[in-house]
Amino acid sequence: MTLFSKLPDVGTTIFTVMSKLATDCNAINLAQGFPGFDCYPYLHDLVNYYVSEGYNQYAPMSGVPIFKQRIAEKTSRVYGVDFKAESEVTVVSGATEALFAAVTAVVNKGDEVILLEPCYDSYAPAVVLNGGVPVYVSLRLPDFSVDWDKVKSAITDKTRLIMVNTPHNPCGYVWTQKDLDTLAELIQDREIYIVSDEVYEHITFDGREHLPMFSHPVLKERTFACGSFGKTFHITGWKIGYCLAPEKLTAEFRKIHQFLTFSTATPLQYALADFMMEPSRYLHLNAFYNRKRDLFCRGLMKTDFEFTPAQGSFFQLVSYGHLSQESDYDLAVRMTKQLGVASIPVSVFYHDKTDHKMLRFCFAKEDEVLEKALELLQGSIF
Ligand code: PMP
Ligand code: GLN
Repeated sequence: MTLFSKLPDVGTTIFTVMSKLATDCNAINLAQGFPGFDCYPYLHDLVNYYVSEGYNQYAPMSGVPIFKQRIAEKTSRVYGVDFKAESEVTVVSGATEALFAAVTAVVNKGDEVILLEPCYDSYAPAVVLNGGVPVYVSLRLPDFSVDWDKVKSAITDKTRLIMVNTPHNPCGYVWTQKDLDTLAELIQDREIYIVSDEVYEHITFDGREHLPMFSHPVLKERTFACGSFGKTFHITGWKIGYCLAPEKLTAEFRKIHQFLTFSTATPLQYALADFMMEPSRYLHLNAFYNRKRDLFCRGLMKTDFEFTPAQGSFFQLVSYGHLSQESDYDLAVRMTKQLGVASIPVSVFYHDKTDHKMLRFCFAKEDEVLEKALELLQGSIF
């Protein structure tokens, strides 16, 4: 038998590949994006409590009511935008599920979907598996801002969806009000939807504010906003997130969600519902990661890399094109083996593997780990 591959060009994700290499080489893993520290012990207590109290059967398909309520309250408190807990908030098993379900809800065979590259690796496969056609628009160097003229030229009668991500992985760019306004202007008279990946919403630097797509009225009516508790509470292994969308969009989203995972771990939902009542538990993240970014960037200045400090997310890009023309993939592998620090080559976030000679480091690690990595990165590699 010959199984016809639906994703013939896709291999194992770079995050898995580089994490394995880091383990094999006993290297510091600044490649895959996950915090190198644990969540608050109180969160352990809450989960233990709900598990031992017997909250261990299926949660309602769209999420535990009190949890959806708390997500709606947080959204209203932080952004001043209201969503109805019962009909506009859906709990999912990670933002990856939210992105896939939202794309599936919108995209039909032959529909064009605008992807701003570099972009997170799950977007294009979600589009392709639904019969959609990715239309790639490159972000503009050096800051990886959106080139709106290029987006405008990419829009056709077949464009059904645009996928956006702010704060951006891997580049750290944070959308401005002008970005939101321009997008609204471009699509307001068309039936174009938005899947907005905002998993780093609480990680912005130097006083920048995260602007969700739903903060703009024209964008709100057509946006599926995808969030993740993994980044916000240092629990990437829990795979729990949510989707906020207007009622009609949510109805379609839930039709997909119920056959993808049906529902999400019950005790985790109750625990997070309690935990998120205290806003300081997520509002401190900007300052927490701003300090880590600064520490990491100060150390990078002693290396040969060139860089511009990230505006948001917990990733820092560095360039080495002034030193070598080696491919970013080869360099990332060699650095893991020879210097003992693993990173992600940025070319993997481009469909055609465009190589700007850049690497991505995750600085969501203990200070001592970052300091050790920075020391190793001063070693000679070129
Ligand atoms: N989007 C982006 C930009 C990410 O960086 C990640 C993962 N870290 C995800 C989505 C997936 O989030 P989750 O782990 O909640 O599925
Ligand atoms: N989002 C993480 C990153 O960008 C990885 C998540 C994963 O391994 N799938 O590194």
